Amino acid sequence: MASESLDSLYQEMVLDHYKKPRNFRLLENADIHSEGFNPFCGDRVVLTAKLDQQGIISEVGFKGEGCAISQSSASMMTEAIQNRTLAEAKELVTVFKEMMQGKMLDQKEEDGLGSLVILQGVREYPVRIKCALLTWSTLQDAILEQEK
Ligand code: ZN
Repeated sequence: MASESLDSLYQEMVLDHYKKPRNFRLLENADIHSEGFNPFCGDRVVLTAKLDQQGIISEVGFKGEGCAISQSSASMMTEAIQNRTLAEAKELVTVFKEMMQGKMLDQKEEDGLGSLVILQGVREYPVRIKCALLTWSTLQDAILEQEK
């Protein structure tokens, strides 16, 4: 894909999720509840999720405030982790973080991320990487807490 079209696709997707965040609500009786704050930009996210009896993430909801990148990343993440096990979600966090840190992904990793791959456009703006990662670090904290 030409970098120009990838760039406009990136902006389009970030704005779309920012204006119409998916799963923008906090779940009651959630099995997972985690909050994150990015002091560099003032972004906040609160993440809630329910697990079914097989340990699959059956429902996800978030609320937050902050810049477009932090909120759209959270919105996209809620869609990406739905119907995955905690172990799969954890793997997704790892791959996403590696991507943001500049690692070249192999095909399998790219396929696993799906449309989240577009967010690598954030790497052009290093100061924003923390914004994109906030929700993922918040999820990671929650998963580590579950594993205790
Ligand atoms: Zn931000």
